[in-house]
Amino acid sequence: MLKGKTAIVTGSTSGIGLGIARVLANKGCAVALNDHTHSDESKRIAADLATETGAKVVYVGADMSKAEDCANLVAEAEKALGPIDILVNNAGIQHVEKIEDFPDGKWNAIIAINLSSAFHTTKAVMAGMKSRGHGRIVNIASAHGLTASPYKSAYVAAKHGVVGLSKVTALEGAAAKVDVTCNAICPGYVWTPLVESQLEDQMKANDMTKDEVIDKVMLTRTPTRKFATVEQIGETTAFLCSDGAAQITGTTISVDGGWTAM
Ligand code: NAD
Repeated sequence: MLKGKTAIVTGSTSGIGLGIARVLANKGCAVALNDHTHSDESKRIAADLATETGAKVVYVGADMSKAEDCANLVAEAEKALGPIDILVNNAGIQHVEKIEDFPDGKWNAIIAINLSSAFHTTKAVMAGMKSRGHGRIVNIASAHGLTASPYKSAYVAAKHGVVGLSKVTALEGAAAKVDVTCNAICPGYVWTPLVESQLEDQMKANDMTKDEVIDKVMLTRTPTRKFATVEQIGETTAFLCSDGAAQITGTTISVDGGWTAM
């Protein structure tokens, strides 16, 4: 379905980004993995994904908190893979603290990585996608792009911003009368190594079993009482990148077990 396409996934050496990259590679895309570490470990993850899927997979180190690195990521990926058909803006970080104590540096970093990077990478691919008449931009927002929780001011502001940016990008693609779409996926809780690593602490802090922590702490706002998986976010991304999704643009797709229906 996506055979022969080229894709960049930002922040993709772990968690959701790696899950999306794996699904795209399995469907025949050549993929550029990215994180900011420039590490041998990240290069190994790209090499392993290439071996596992048979797809061309390259690693491009670039810090998504910096505008010039975002432009370089696109330039390096195009050098390695050719013109980019699919851009997935996934890189993101979190900090949880009440507003009056929220460090300015954390605010700036979250806005830069979770929101501004999506603008800078989109800016770098948009003209090429328009001139080729085709492109797919998928922004990984969050249930927090549609609703709020206390103590997550920067994250909620950034993710609402990502939803707004997705709508503007969609309108500009449509105005150019080309098949360039942009949408935001809004996951609820997704089972990633990051979430798994928090389980132990929560069990100790609350004196609860693993199942109790999942049911009573983590998934209280998830009616299905189930985590989404990285494979499900990957498959949703792949669908949005397909020809069948050509008329889906400027919208959000929740993968949140009913969270935002409540
Ligand atoms: P993760 O921490 O597992 O992965 C984040 C990736 O981004 C890593 O590869 C990390 O190296 C990379 N990264 C961090 N800072 C970077 C930077 N400055 N430049 C480039 N790369 C950088 O996180 P995740 O849980 O997989 O989250 C991925 C995205 O999904 C984020 O945007 C997050 O907000 C969103 N999301 C996650 C959940 C969830 O439950 N995990 C829910 C909703 C939305």
